[in-house]
This record gives sequence, structure tokens and C-alpha cells, in this order.
Amino acid sequence: LKMALTRIGLAGLAVMGQNLALNIAEKGFPISVYNRTTSKVDETVERAKVEGNLPVYGFHDPQTFVNSIQKPRVVIMLVKAGAPVDQTIATLSAYLEAGDCIIDGGNEWYENTERREKSMAELGLLYLGMGVSGGEEGARHGPSLMPGGSFEAYKYIEDILLKVAAQVPDSGPCVTYVGKGGSGNFVKMVHNGIEYGDMQLIAEAYDVLKSVGKLSNDELQQVFSQWNKGELLSFLIEITADIFGIKDDKGEGYLVDKVLDKTGMKGTGKWTVQQAADLSVAAPTIEASLDSRFLSGLKEERVEAAKVFKSDGFDDILSSQPIDKAKLVDDVRQALYASKICSYAQGMNLLRAKSIEKGWGLKLGELARIWKGGCIIRAIFLDRIKKAYDRNADLANLLVDPEFAKEIVDRHQAWRRVICLAINAGISTPGMSASLAYFDTYRRERLPANLVQAQRDYFGAHTYERIDMDGSFHTEWFKIA
Ligand code: NAP
Repeated sequence: LKMALTRIGLAGLAVMGQNLALNIAEKGFPISVYNRTTSKVDETVERAKVEGNLPVYGFHDPQTFVNSIQKPRVVIMLVKAGAPVDQTIATLSAYLEAGDCIIDGGNEWYENTERREKSMAELGLLYLGMGVSGGEEGARHGPSLMPGGSFEAYKYIEDILLKVAAQVPDSGPCVTYVGKGGSGNFVKMVHNGIEYGDMQLIAEAYDVLKSVGKLSNDELQQVFSQWNKGELLSFLIEITADIFGIKDDKGEGYLVDKVLDKTGMKGTGKWTVQQAADLSVAAPTIEASLDSRFLSGLKEERVEAAKVFKSDGFDDILSSQPIDKAKLVDDVRQALYASKICSYAQGMNLLRAKSIEKGWGLKLGELARIWKGGCIIRAIFLDRIKKAYDRNADLANLLVDPEFAKEIVDRHQAWRRVICLAINAGISTPGMSASLAYFDTYRRERLPANLVQAQRDYFGAHTYERIDMDGSFHTEWFKIA
């Protein structure tokens, strides 16, 4: 019996691949699946049966896998970024033919995608780098998809992507053609950088409420659940509320209190910060979140440092302050929201700078739209960002959009109170503080940069400009002094 050809193929059946394959099949597209370790192929086919007899066809060898797909063939790869992607491409391209297409759905460095797109083109193959966000759950039921690269290839699978992506009422499926080259991977990378920022800001809100406000886990759960009904409504706030309610299954108390305070990372946050520096875009909130992960990793050193300062009374600062809990909760909510605006402003400006450098023509409002559902940073807040860019596509910075500007003005006193309180209590709020410093720097007409320029000219004859005359000037400061 000859099997009908499938519409699409997927190679790499770990968490993401398996779930995305089932999602595609569930939306009515027969799919071929392949994985280097063949037990995962059988596992996926078994799941497809259990989860509703979905049209998933498993193959143990790459050649029959490739031949089972209708032409022009499209294969989505979901394997570990880096060398595994090159190895998988080599395996597949041995059997693919001109006009076929490979899509990398992993968190790949965008330049790797651009390199591969070029070498694929030499074989007549099309290539897409597609950011996929939403973790296991998103992949299975609707991720946010950020495809970039060959537009022709995108058009060929657009019908699949539109159905597979998360669907948001009133704003459509969470997918759009991002742009040429590695733009899809780059956008996904910045999405992850923004995600680092959001998580850090939420963690700081938790720290202030817990350490200064003395809120219990039950109270924290209530606060975050309440926050999730308003302007902060988002996936990350929702799961945070959930986390505070989970009891330890291996002992007394709550699980969150037993989790080691040492954050892991896989690299996309670091790449975001490196790119920001390369493009001379200030991204202090995202940088603070990365630095916080580095410092969290020094658990043993922090334990020793805590001992050094214990005898100096540093533990008593916290207990000395009388706190109005309800007021603190309301202030922290506002501080979190205002800080978040600054973090997104940084991420969006990074995307714009890269888009200009590469000629990608990224549409920032459209990116905010496809992040409204499916992905980890999904939030009601993204709708406000989309609207800001709808009002003015050339907006220099989200901070000066009239709506966001008003929101910041309404919240800045609470924001400052929270940071002052934290500083006085010896609780670090690097993300919130970096956001506030970003705002306070950006909104000031005159900065002390005049002095830095004077110093540079003094010791290095780097010259300076004047506020009252055109041209570049040098002064022999040391002679006059
Ligand atoms: P993963 O753990 O990153 O990768 C495992 C997969 O890679 C397996 O299918 C494995 O095959 C394959 N693989 C590894 N080395 C290989 C090689 N040399 N040749 C061929 N195949 C190789 O899987 P994942 O967590 O599902 O993530 C897949 C991609 O999506 C990654 O780029 C990841 O960063 C990205 N991503 C993940 C998430 C998430 O929540 N996990 C979210 C968004 C994006 P074997 O079974 O044969 O070892």
C-alpha cells in the first residue's frame, strides 16, 4: 500500500519538536517526523495516536522521511542550536531537491542562519530561521512564531503557520513574516532578552514585598493574582501567582522557598546584551537582569559575603522600618509597570537599530502584535506597544509616546518610593533602578556629559562641540589650569 505524501516534515523530536509536530497534525496537516535517536520517533507517533489519532507519520531513516513529503518539501528542524543544526542540515540536504526548504525553529544565532541560507542557496534550497516561543505548552497548542529568511518559502507554508500559531481575539494569529536573513532569529533573541528583563523585575517586586513588606507566600499569591487582573495581566505574572501557591512535595512549607537561588541561562540574554553594546543601544534593564543571573550564580561567595557583613548590623536595616503593606503593594505594582515600559523601550530600540543596520524593515508594532499570544512575554501590555507604533511608526522611544509618557508621570513617585525603600533596606533592585535611571537620563535635556567631554579633551585632545557655536574645538586645558 502506497502512503499519500505528507504536507510537511519535522526533524528533532525533543520537547519542542514533538509538541509542534502534534500541533501541526492537529490543525489538519499530515506531517512526517524524524529524529536521530529513533525511540523519539516512536514516542511521537504513539502520542499522536493517544492525543486523537493525529496524522503523524514516523520514519527511522532520513531518506524515507524526506521522500514521504510532498514537493516542494518543507522540513522544520527543532534540534539544539549550533553544530547539531549543521549536522541535521547535512543529513537532510543529501536527499532534498532544488526548491525544497529547511526551517530552523531553534534559538539559533542569527548569523548562523544567514550563513546557512547562503550555502543552502548554492544547492537551490530555501531557508528560514523561525523563532518559536511558548515552551512546551505553546508548541503544542499555539506558539508565537517569528519566521525570517526566504519570503518565497514563507509564502509556501503560511497557511500552516497561520493555523498553528496562537490565536488572539481581535489581533489574529501570532505569526508574521519578520523579514529577510536572520531577522526571525534576531527578533526571537530580543524577545528572550525582554523576557529576562520581565522575570528580573518580577523577582525584584517579590523581593521587596517579601523582604521589606514581610508578605507571606499566601499574601504574595493573592497580590500577584490581583495584579493579573489589571495592567500587569500577563503569562509571567500568572505563573508567578501559581508558584506562590505550590506546597513542597518533599517536605514542609512552600516549594518556592526550597528552590536554590541560582539562575541558569542558555545564552539568548547574553547575546541580546552583546548586540545592544555592538549597536550602541542602551539596554540597562536587560543588562541588569543578565548581571543578576551572573551574581546569583555566585551562591557560595554570597554565603561568605553575608557572614562578613552580618556582624556589621546589615541584617538589622530591614527590621527597622515600619511598613504599610497595602500601600507598599500598590507602589510596587506601579514601580513594576513603569520599569517594564523602560525595558521594552530598550528591546524595541535594539530591534530598530539592527533593522536599520541590516535593512530588514522590521515593523515594531507588528512584532508587539505577534507577542500578544503564545510566547512567554505575552501580556495585555503589548497591545499598548502596538498602539503606540500604530500612532507613530517612527516613534523615537516608547517613553515619549503620549500614552506611555502619561503612565510614567502617574507612577513615577511610587516608582521612586519603592527604589528608595529598597536601597535603605539594603535590598538590591538592579532592574527597577536601571529602568528608572534610563528614564531619568533620557528625559533630561542636559546631562553631565559636558564634563566627560571636557575630561576627554583635557587628557586626550579628543575635541568637543559647543552649545553655542558650530565646529569642533580643542582647548589646552592643562596650560590654562
Ligand atoms: P534540545 O534539548 O535543545 O535538543 C534536543 C534535540 O536535538 C533532540 O532531537 C536531539 O536528537 C537533537 N540533536 C542534538 N544533537 C544532535 C546532532 N548532533 N544531530 C542531530 N540531532 C541532534 O530540544 P528542545 O528543548 O526541544 O529545543 C529545540 C530548539 O528549540 C532549541 O534550539 C531550543 O533552544 C529551542 N527552544 C526551546 C524551548 C523550550 O522551552 N525548550 C523554547 C523555545 C525554543 P537526539 O534525540 O538524537 O539526541
